[in-house]
Amino acid sequence: MARLILKPGKERSLLRRHPWVFAGSVAALDGRARAGDTVDVCTADGRVLARAACSPASQIRARVWSFDPEVVIDHAFFKRKVAEAVARRAAHPLLAGQEGVRLIHGESDGLPGVIADRYGPVVVVQLTSAGADKWREAIVGALVQATGCVAVYERSDSEVRGLEGLPPVAGCVFGELPEEPLTIVENGLTLEVDVVGGHKTGFYLDQRDNRLLTRHLAAGRRVLNCFCYTGGFSLQALAGGAAEVLSIDSSAPALAAAQRNLARNPALDAARAQWREDDVFQALRSLRAEGRKFDLIVLDPPKFAPSAAYAERAARAYKDINLLGFRLLDPGGILMSYSCSGGVGVELFQKIVAGAAVDAGVDARILHRLSAAADHPVGLAVPEGEYLKGLACQIG
Ligand code: SAH
Repeated sequence: MARLILKPGKERSLLRRHPWVFAGSVAALDGRARAGDTVDVCTADGRVLARAACSPASQIRARVWSFDPEVVIDHAFFKRKVAEAVARRAAHPLLAGQEGVRLIHGESDGLPGVIADRYGPVVVVQLTSAGADKWREAIVGALVQATGCVAVYERSDSEVRGLEGLPPVAGCVFGELPEEPLTIVENGLTLEVDVVGGHKTGFYLDQRDNRLLTRHLAAGRRVLNCFCYTGGFSLQALAGGAAEVLSIDSSAPALAAAQRNLARNPALDAARAQWREDDVFQALRSLRAEGRKFDLIVLDPPKFAPSAAYAERAARAYKDINLLGFRLLDPGGILMSYSCSGGVGVELFQKIVAGAAVDAGVDARILHRLSAAADHPVGLAVPEGEYLKGLACQIG
């Protein structure tokens, strides 16, 4: 096996069990290793620290499969790791009954570059690193065995694959997708999931708990849901007895899916729902000009900052929508504001929202600090895994 030799002193993050080896930390590659091949990661004086997947094209030159230098990286390894991740979800009382659940959350489940989401009988995988790509067959086989799913659909069409020198890939890698539209029940609501054409793997499972919180907070309130996608927050607000729910998204197909979702849940009062195809930045200004007011506003925008390099531009965009959101609330109103930008940390996000409240001239307090659901764990050694953060702030 080839050995990736680190520069002196560059073993520190690995000793803290962080699984990435950056190109700048590597002194030499001793032996031959192609993209995805397993290498031993060694200190400058030759001590083996970890077994990792090599990624010659990436700034993250290697991703650790195991900190046990004896472990063999083979089919049995992936079978074990996948089965453990699936079993952890099955053992969690809040996740066990869910039809839509993230089964593998990359680094935080010890499988860098591997995402797997279950939607009822179908599992969707996304492989974003050279190592994950190389072990596709083993990972898919292990998922089939651990879940008994009827199909595994691959959605490795995320841009980050480009950084690893990998082309986009999508399609069925096991079984066949059911003919009829795929739906899941999430906290009592039936929601369609388009695993082929939807965002990410088809749905935003990470917001499950926060959608449920919205349901609890929505009773009797006038709700505005910005960036509504297929209507998850909107429908939970209706289920919670919202007086009215206005939902905005710039994507016509997402809004069409949202309206189909509303129709799939006949217990909800469709007369209380309004849908608007618009740019949220514009729409918030129009709503203010129209003199509209709300009691609960959800802001769940797309990723404005994929990395820290974009943080400043992203901060301006977050500030803008949060400021406009605060201004549209009546006293006692609640702003539920999210950021899924890896490049904007929890502290910075709170500062941005606080600045927006000051500029909007409102007094606000944090009622809830929000994050992704428990099927998106954050490895303590991998704080980068904490991408989704949110604040529920009440004004007045
Ligand atoms: N809250 C959703 C997920 C939101 S994803 C859920 O719980 O499922 C972000 C959404 O923002 C996408 O649907 C995308 O179409 C929409 N979007 C992106 N930029 C936008 C903009 N400038 N104005 C309005 N919608 C936008």
